[in-house]
This record gives sequence, C-alpha cells and structure tokens, in this order.
Amino acid sequence: MMDLETVYQGIQEGRRRALARGLSWVDEGSDRGNALLGRLFPHAGHAHVIGITGAPGVGKSTLVNALTLHLRKTKQTVGILAVDPSSPFTGGAILGDRIRMQDSVDDQGVYMRSLASRGHVGGLSRATFGALTLLDAAGFDVILIETVGAGQAEVDVMRFAQTVLVVLAPGLGDDIQAIKAGILEIGNIFVVNKGDREGADRTVRSLRSMLGLTSTSLDWVPPIIKTSADRNEGIGELVQAIEDHVRVPEENRLGQEGQGYSMALFLLDGGRIGIAAQSVGIMSTALERSLAYAREREQFGRPIGQFEGVQWRLADMATDLHAARLMTYEAAHRREEGPAQRPLFAMAKLFASEKAVQHAADAIQIFGGYGYMREYGVERLLRDAKVTEIYEGTSEIMRLVIASRLLKEYDLGNI
Ligand SMILES: Cc1cc2nc3c(=O)[nH]c(=O)nc-3n(C[C@H](O)[C@H](O)[C@H](O)COP(=O)(O)OP(=O)(O)OC[C@H]3O[C@@H](n4cnc5c(N)ncnc54)[C@H](O)[C@@H]3O)c2cc1C
Repeated sequence: MMDLETVYQGIQEGRRRALARGLSWVDEGSDRGNALLGRLFPHAGHAHVIGITGAPGVGKSTLVNALTLHLRKTKQTVGILAVDPSSPFTGGAILGDRIRMQDSVDDQGVYMRSLASRGHVGGLSRATFGALTLLDAAGFDVILIETVGAGQAEVDVMRFAQTVLVVLAPGLGDDIQAIKAGILEIGNIFVVNKGDREGADRTVRSLRSMLGLTSTSLDWVPPIIKTSADRNEGIGELVQAIEDHVRVPEENRLGQEGQGYSMALFLLDGGRIGIAAQSVGIMSTALERSLAYAREREQFGRPIGQFEGVQWRLADMATDLHAARLMTYEAAHRREEGPAQRPLFAMAKLFASEKAVQHAADAIQIFGGYGYMREYGVERLLRDAKVTEIYEGTSEIMRLVIASRLLKEYDLGNI
C-alpha cells in the first residue's frame, strides 16, 4: 500500500505505478486525492494540453494514435486522457478496446488513462482537472484529452485545454448544421478526418462557411485541416497548426524570455498608482458632497457646516485629500524609474485607499441618516472605496513592500 508521500515523490520522478495510484485517488474524489493534488499543483503548468472532441465514429482514437506517434518522433512525451462519461471503463478495458492505440502502449514516453466521472455533478470536470494536474506534474510535455463532444460537460472539460481540436468526418450524417454551437465555438482547429472519403471537401466547405459566421477572434482564424489518420495523412500539417496556435509571434512579444515576472510586477506598480488615483477620486467626491450638504442641511437653526465638529471633519478630509493627491502625482511622475521606487507606489496606494475608506464613512456621518439612502449617493462611496484596500495588492501587502525596503535601505530619502 503506497502512502501519500511515496505517491507524491513517485509522480514527480515519473514512476508509472505511483501515477496510476494517484490518478485513482483523484478519480474517486477522496481526501487523499485532494491532498495529493494540493501538493502537486505547484509542480504543474508546463504541459501543452490539447483537447480532441467530436462525435463517436469520426476516428478520434486513430487521430490520437497518429498524433502521439508524430509527437514521439520529436521526443516529446505524451499523456492521454480518454473521457467518456456515458461509459466509464477501466484502464484495462480501454486499452483492449483500442486496438489502434497499440502502437503507443509499449512506449515509456506515453501514458494513457480513461476517466470515469462516477456520475457526480461537475465530477467530470473535477476528475479531469485532477488527472491533468497529475500528468502535468509527472512531466509529460503534451497531454491529449479526448471526449465524445456530446454535451455541456465535455464543453466544460475542453476549457482545460490550450488548444481544442474539433474532429468531424464526412458522410456520418452529422450534418454540420447540427453540430452544437458550443462545440463550434470552442474549436481552435477543425479536423475533417477520413479526408479520403467522398464528401470530405463538401464537409470542409460547409464548415468554412459556418465558421465564417461564428468566428469572433481577430487573432486566430481556426484552420480546417483534412486528415486520414489511419493512413497518417495530414498529421504533420495538423501538428504544425497546433504549434502555430500556441506560439506567440515574435512581433507580439512584450519582452525577453524569463522576464515575465519582473514585467508583471512593473505592470502591478502602474496598477497601484491607478488605484491610488481612483481613491483620490472617491475622496474628492466625498468632500464635494459633504461640503454641499454641510451648507444646505440645517439643524438647531443653522447649517450644520457652522458646527465646529463638522468643520474639523471637513478640514481633515481636505488635508488628507491634498496629501493623497500629491503622493499619487509623485508616484505617477516617478513611475518610469521602476522597481527602485516601488515603495513610493505602495505608499501612495496604501495612504489613498485607507483614507478613501475613512472619508467615505465620514461623508456618511455628515449626511446622518440620509447617508444610508441610495438617492444621496454617499453610501456607494464606501463600497467603492473598500475594494481599493484589496485589489492590486491588499494594504497588508503594501505595508510589507514598504517595510521590506525600509529594512534593506535605511535611507528614507532614497526611496
Ligand atoms: C472587485 C475585485 C476585482 C478584482 N479584479 C481583479 C483583476 O482584474 N485581476 C486580478 O488579477 N485580480 C483581481 N482581483 C483580485 C485581487 O487582486 C485579490 O483579491 C487581492 O490581491 C487579494 O488577494 P486574495 O483575495 O487572494 O487574498 P489573500 O491573499 O487570500 O489574503 C487574505 C487576507 O490575508 C492577508 N494576507 C495575505 N498574505 C499576507 C501576509 N503575507 N501578511 C499579512 N497579511 C496577509 C491579506 O492582506 C488579506 O487581508 C479583484 C478582487 C476584487 C475584490
């Protein structure tokens, strides 16, 4: 009996017995399956996941086989998940069922598994996600998920794939008009398999006109590839289309490889200044409305703006607003100096967002009971303000950013 640690280690070392055991745990949705997933998740995220969907009889298994052989020639390892919610089969049965997959079953660079959803609502998606994570963590370069493409569950499963192939075949009575719109929408590449059969070109033509009507992306026009998987025809072209689909063209690259994290942080810096500006806007509205109300609302025979208690609040709001605005302007002015000024950006966001929450509450206080009424438009300032303390990094994270720089470089003037 393997324990969690053995399975966890074994999967990362690519051991098949450990992988098989882990997949069973994940498939049954057990606690140990969830625990394993939690530990392996950080090790996943490297594989290219390719979904293959289409009605029964279009030749998906043969296509999977041909694709696998092609990928193996380029030394890529391949994990295969066969998803069929209507007839959950065992790993043994599926291999027996797939005579055509024989070419791959003895190859250590290929691992195949069928998935049973066990009838739970959402079970198919959960089990597929778990199995994908395990195969990914086990180091497979490419993972092929194959489904029958019959319903919403499969459409959901296909969302785990970076590239979705929708497979059709001529003469199966599956008139293209009858294909579910959902399936057409998720396809990144359309494959007309059994392309040597009569009617294949007609299928390609009507598919092209259907896609012309439904295509929504300007970046990627789904290609239609004709294959005869059993004769190994069109597979090279299909693999090329799959690679093209995930390749970021040189001209679309934002920076050098390996710089993604620092670029993300640079963008986050800009985002934080933007949130500071948003908070300044909220503070400005809070003050404007409070001033107008303080002039207009009378109690004890005079406008409430004549009471000192209200005046102090208004004076503090105006002072904070001015400070927050200057901090935001300075942060924006020095934004191009980059990470060196990161604590300044964090300070602007921290100060402005916390003051915005306080001022929204102050405005409600000045409005008294009317502050709660939607018509007076100040209660929503509090909702709008609160989120500025959370997104693009919470106030706690802003303090960590500031403090860690303080502890490294004691010279405040340098920040
Ligand atoms: C309306 C809204 C819109 C959003 N839009 C986007 C968006 O467009 N894009 C996007 O990517 N994200 C978006 N987010 C997500 C947002 O960026 C995160 O919610 C935020 O960064 C906080 O992360 P979290 O929710 O995972 O909280 P957690 O990290 O789980 O934090 C929970 C609590 O623990 C505290 N905490 C966590 N770590 C520490 C620590 N080390 N020290 C002290 N305290 C800590 C946090 O400050 C917080 O109080 C949005 C969130 C909201 C509410």
